[in-house]
Amino acid sequence: MYYRSTRDKSLRYTPAQAIAQGLSREGGLFVPDALPKLPEGALERLKGMTYQQRAVYVMGLYLPGFSEAELTGFAEKAYGPAKFDTPDVAPVRKVDENTYCLELWHGPTCAFKDMALQMLPHLLTASLVKNEEQRTVCILVATSGDTGKGALEGFKDVDRTRIMVFYPKDGVSEIQEMQMRTQEGDNVGVCAVVGNFDDAQTGVKRLFSDEALRENLSERGYFFSSANSINWGRVLPQIVYYISSYAELLRQGAIRNGDKINICVPTGNFGNILAAFYAKEMGLPVNKLICASNSNNVLTDFLTTGIYDRNRPFYTTVSPSMDILISSNLERLLYVLSGEDDALVSDYMAQLAANGRYEVSDGIKAQVRELFAAGFSTEDETKQTIGKMWRDKHYLIDTHSAVAFHVLEQYRAACGDDRVTVVASTASPFKFGDAVLESVGVTDLRGGVALLDQLAEVSGIPAPKPLASLKDKALRFDACVEKENMEQAVLDFLS
Ligand SMILES: *Cc1c(COP(=O)(O)O)cnc(C)c1O
Repeated sequence: MYYRSTRDKSLRYTPAQAIAQGLSREGGLFVPDALPKLPEGALERLKGMTYQQRAVYVMGLYLPGFSEAELTGFAEKAYGPAKFDTPDVAPVRKVDENTYCLELWHGPTCAFKDMALQMLPHLLTASLVKNEEQRTVCILVATSGDTGKGALEGFKDVDRTRIMVFYPKDGVSEIQEMQMRTQEGDNVGVCAVVGNFDDAQTGVKRLFSDEALRENLSERGYFFSSANSINWGRVLPQIVYYISSYAELLRQGAIRNGDKINICVPTGNFGNILAAFYAKEMGLPVNKLICASNSNNVLTDFLTTGIYDRNRPFYTTVSPSMDILISSNLERLLYVLSGEDDALVSDYMAQLAANGRYEVSDGIKAQVRELFAAGFSTEDETKQTIGKMWRDKHYLIDTHSAVAFHVLEQYRAACGDDRVTVVASTASPFKFGDAVLESVGVTDLRGGVALLDQLAEVSGIPAPKPLASLKDKALRFDACVEKENMEQAVLDFLS
């Protein structure tokens, strides 16, 4: 198996090349040239395995050139007890007769990004060795919150890597900022940027494309790479947990082998739900992929009309990790559904860059309708869902997961499909404690980390350790730069 670029499939890469490079030269994303199928009896076999073993099994299908022993070492380190607070790693919790919640936030930063960002550093450093790369990789990240901390934790003290994270000064929650500014590790840097997420993101993109900077750094033994969700090394570990969730349902006796389930995912950049799509393509018995958005509902419109149009207001919501109008990973879906038509995908992406809009072919529309259901949740609906879930089921969920639960309810009411559904839960409620407290009826909120204690008192659930320990940690980083000065910040960091 090789990897191709979505915009030029004549280019061919090994898995190690695709992972180390991150993005193809002409801007395309790397995709496998043939999707592997789950072998006969695989799900029954996976049922009896640990999460780590399931990860080795599934990832091995996509990574020729990586040995089973190698992947086993990675999985043990990435998903071991030092990193995850439950041996199940991604537990599947029963909410009611036909609703199961796949909790993806038991890792070191309490958001689902850990599922991939704990694995990516191992895949990336092994790829450097396989590619005989002599230089040190410098990971640059622009973050609206969860990715930055996830990447810092994943890459901290990993040999031959440095990581620098830029976050918008006023664009992240207090807890998220504390998480990043207290980051430990000798190879990490954190810097605030004056402005919003777009300023930080645009600044990082400029650094990536600055030829002079690239040469300067190469002479000093560095090259840039990216840890954001366009890297195949982030999509792949996410396929594992959907397949694992099916094995869990089998183990719990919730379904029989072969039963089709629905999967409902709170979606921003389309990375998480794309992984569910790949799992279905591999032969996982899935009926509908339900794509849940917040008020930034560009994907709801796309999946129901076939028209992608980012020319619309941008809303800041209580589910900030889904506040996004350009869902980069959709490109990978279009590549598969167009029959690997790289010219057509390039054309859609060129239209998106030029006019912020494109409309897909009737053939793609028909497949999208067959595969997906889509809906969105308003701010009020999201908060009501948290309150209702807490009152009725005594289950505390975060704002992003609530978007998914609400959209699932809409879907069931609209079409009466009440088959077993797995809902992806993407963050600990403690990470978005202020909105969660408001949703369960608390009005006088404490500030900063005191919010964690307040939510713990109200709910009777202890705050996750990585968040509770924030108050004892020293602030290590206090730099804040104008976006014009990000290059200097990187040079200082690497000097
Ligand atoms: C990143 C994130 C999402 C969105 O995931 P995508 O892969 O971008 O669709 C949803 N919820 C949380 C908590 C996140 O951090």
